[in-house]
Amino acid sequence: MPVFNRGECPGHSQYIMDTIYSEKIIAWYMGHKRDLPWRGIDDPYRIWVSEIILQQTRVNQGLEYYLRFVGRFPDVRSLAEADEDEVLKYWQGLGYYSRARNLHRAAQTIVADFGGVFPHEYKDILSLSGVGEYTAAAIASFAYGLPYATVDGNVYRVLARLFSVTVPIDSPAGKREFARLAQSLLPSARAGLHNQAMMEFGALQCVPSSPDCIRCPLQPQCKAFEQGVVAQLPVKSQRAKVQDRYFNYFYVICDGCTFLQKRTGDDVWKGLYEFPLIETERQISLDELMTDRQFGRMFGDAGEVEVQAISPLMKHVLSHRRIFARFVTVHVRQAGTFLASLLRVPLGEVDRYAVSRLTDMFLESLE
Ligand code: SF4
Repeated sequence: MPVFNRGECPGHSQYIMDTIYSEKIIAWYMGHKRDLPWRGIDDPYRIWVSEIILQQTRVNQGLEYYLRFVGRFPDVRSLAEADEDEVLKYWQGLGYYSRARNLHRAAQTIVADFGGVFPHEYKDILSLSGVGEYTAAAIASFAYGLPYATVDGNVYRVLARLFSVTVPIDSPAGKREFARLAQSLLPSARAGLHNQAMMEFGALQCVPSSPDCIRCPLQPQCKAFEQGVVAQLPVKSQRAKVQDRYFNYFYVICDGCTFLQKRTGDDVWKGLYEFPLIETERQISLDELMTDRQFGRMFGDAGEVEVQAISPLMKHVLSHRRIFARFVTVHVRQAGTFLASLLRVPLGEVDRYAVSRLTDMFLESLE
């Protein structure tokens, strides 16, 4: 068996890497890979878009968005020249909207600094907005065959189990160790294929819970299987703190129109549109809401405010936040100072604006 490379893991025995891992995983991949439009292509732009979409999105959901996105923005220039609002509209419902803003910004950088040609060097790819080490390695290896190992959540799991690595994957030491381990397994002549095979193997075979180890081609080499610790790996050290937030939206109807504002600041849904919002520290009653200072600022000079409906409380879970929202439909005869400062939109045209999935669900409920 030919020795390919050698690496070490603190607190573990030395690993001897040989090509058998890569060969077996690639063989498995050739027989099991899903047929996806970003596979088997070497267009760095499309690979980049697919990787960004798939960062926080399941393949099934991401596929539809990918096809729509590259249909409208087929290359770097068309994306760079688009309006940010339109880019966000094409992203609507995918969440993590900073991904779309970064794609847009990076496309403009490629046009301004690289003459519209997608950069070929790893360090240049890594310099683009929203591109981290994982994405840069994916683009560099899939599009150009450069020998950079990709380490995504699936690869962490596969490596942790194959080599029974107990260093937490979210610790600095773990990140270094897994990066080194992944790189040591990479056959430089087949970098792109190996990387795709590793990720697909984690996504379909070495799944988070109850993987089918009995029929796994890597079982004879798998340390976690041998030690009976598959379910305990990979190890994570931190649990993300979840913050609860309470959003009270006002769907204001005034003379056949409603009002939208654009979210700004470094917060969730930046760049998307939303109805006027009062955020409170806890869930409060409608009476409390209508005597809140912010309510006075919003409607103080708008005359009588007639409450027509209140939506059920809607819970929306983001990575580190749980948002509890309700939509209060109110009717006013005239827009006061605050409402007049917002975007006035005819009632049938709200869907022209990019909004969060939460607001979109409310709009769907109106239909
Ligand atoms: S034997 Fe089980 S845990 Fe080990 S690589 Fe295969 S599927 Fe994963």
